[in-house]
Amino acid sequence: MIVILKQGITPQEKDKVRSFLSENGFIVKEIVGQQDTVFGAVGKVSIDPRTVELLPGVSSVVPISKPYKLASREMKKEDTIVQVGKVKIGGNRVAVIAGPCAVENYDQVMSIAESIREAGAVMLRGGAFKPRTSPYAFQGLGEEGLKLLRKAGDAFDMPITSEVVSPRDVQMMAGYVDMFQIGARNMQNFELLKEVGKTGMPVLLKRGLSATIEEWLMAAEYLMASGTDQVVLCERGIRTFEKATRNTLDCSAIPVVQKLTHLPVIGDPSHATGIRDMVAPMSLAIVASGASGVIVEVHNCPEKALSDGPQSLYPSQFSKLVRDIQALCPVVGKSLEKIPRVLPESMKARSEETGKAATDSIVVAFQGVRGAFSELAARRSFDESAQMLACHSFSDAFDAVSSGKAKYAVLPVENTLGGTVYDNLDLLAIHPELTVVGEQQVRVMHNLIVVPGTRMEDIRKVYSHPQGLQQCRAFLDRELPDAERVPFFDTAGAVEYIAGLGDKSVAAIAGSPAAHYYGMEVLRQGIETDASNYTRFYILAREENAAVFRSQAKPDKAALSFSVSDEPGALMDILKMIADEGINMTKLESRPIPGKPWEYLFFVELQLPEDIARFDELASRLKEKAVSSRILGVYTSVI
Ligand code: PEP
Ligand code: MN
Repeated sequence: MIVILKQGITPQEKDKVRSFLSENGFIVKEIVGQQDTVFGAVGKVSIDPRTVELLPGVSSVVPISKPYKLASREMKKEDTIVQVGKVKIGGNRVAVIAGPCAVENYDQVMSIAESIREAGAVMLRGGAFKPRTSPYAFQGLGEEGLKLLRKAGDAFDMPITSEVVSPRDVQMMAGYVDMFQIGARNMQNFELLKEVGKTGMPVLLKRGLSATIEEWLMAAEYLMASGTDQVVLCERGIRTFEKATRNTLDCSAIPVVQKLTHLPVIGDPSHATGIRDMVAPMSLAIVASGASGVIVEVHNCPEKALSDGPQSLYPSQFSKLVRDIQALCPVVGKSLEKIPRVLPESMKARSEETGKAATDSIVVAFQGVRGAFSELAARRSFDESAQMLACHSFSDAFDAVSSGKAKYAVLPVENTLGGTVYDNLDLLAIHPELTVVGEQQVRVMHNLIVVPGTRMEDIRKVYSHPQGLQQCRAFLDRELPDAERVPFFDTAGAVEYIAGLGDKSVAAIAGSPAAHYYGMEVLRQGIETDASNYTRFYILAREENAAVFRSQAKPDKAALSFSVSDEPGALMDILKMIADEGINMTKLESRPIPGKPWEYLFFVELQLPEDIARFDELASRLKEKAVSSRILGVYTSVI
């Protein structure tokens, strides 16, 4: 049952409720949600719920209808984020886990670890105990394999996961791995589940070869009832009559499971298909289905692999796959998990929303009101503990970073339909103390948002930013031809405004986070005319905070600005210098220089070459040749 506590419950009352439940034989878990704090109470016992409801500090008691209790969405509405070392799995992230099927030797695991980390994987996998169909096949290196995997994980700063096959290995393995893996063949090995659950450590729970979704969730329940709440589910293909692939990837299980449980679910395209060529398309299908990640087998020399060579990707194929996954992420409203860039001090802090002390958390400025696309971009770029600072204008956000009120700002530079956001380029020009440290991309999906219960025929007025109204014109012409279109300063601000009116004759157009934030309802989703609507943001910092952010990922882009003398071919000379270094230019803009009529500042974005010396050469030649020049930032792009 779920025991919902009153907002104002005292610590003493809370202790009393907890003790009452424990004394009556329940396992009690406290779950702090965005709205309520609840106790989940599960066990073999039954009790009249009214006896609990009558305890001081209890608001109500709700039974859980499903056989799995701790794992059910009824118990916990918010997504569980599983933390494995520095890496997070769940929520709006897509985490890529990769590595060999089995650890074979030092050189093999080190080489694979290096290439997958470089490509963007955040966790290393590798079997040390292999449950093989044939007793004559390679069974794994055992503890020796775990030692090698640990070394590789430490060398390349990645947490590791490996399969546990026997309850007697659990304690030994706990000393090496960051996350246990329970294989498909052991999903219903209940003694193993109990032993692993007792460690309280993260567990990757594969779906059994012919397990129903309910059986799979019951296996998760075993782990949770034994003591861990850090469970990641993994769809890895099920047995069907089909022989063309090793198993049948059940993509539909992903959205089904996400409705039923708060636990994150990932997919394993390697074991699902058994065929190398199928791994990339199925990985994308897994991400498109809404999964929180993939686990992929990669080998430096698949022809010689001791197990699962035919399904293992070459490192170059894996690298291409991560880029494709990254490109897909914004479409499903997620971003690729990276080994975090957050500063260690922020990990301790709590976000503003929880109302807890946030003395040492990172403050991130964005422009707009709560629920704006800019806030979404800012949240995706940092850990949950970051505090969001809503600024009235772009200029306020720049000032917040300059003055130290915020450590970072996340501000739009370009929209695929609306083009460049000139204001931010102009502000960057007058803020030489700030630098670009990263880039984020958000898909702009507009929704018709209303007061709950409103019907289409009730709507007389639609509020949104002029861009929002413009981008949804076809929908408005078709579905609401008679409604008045009212321009507003901000999309999320329009939602806040209609929420305040509480009037069913008005609607707003904005992103879904705004509807959620202001308790409004999404009446129609995805109403923008062109679905290829993305906004790119710069992440800005003062120079002293830039290094730590940049050190987390290899930079692949640079932004520069320069001005040239007023003579024939001056701009062309500079562009030729870029071309001469073999550097690809991805953006060029010119802006008037205030106080210097008819003079222009040029902005360029470049793809950093593999050989960074060529960029350094360009920067020094630019300094000599241009009237003025500045490196605005060297950073990691989203794609
Ligand atoms: C594995 O991940 O190496 C493995 C054996 O997977 P599964 O248990 O899904 O077959
Ligand atoms: Mn395998």
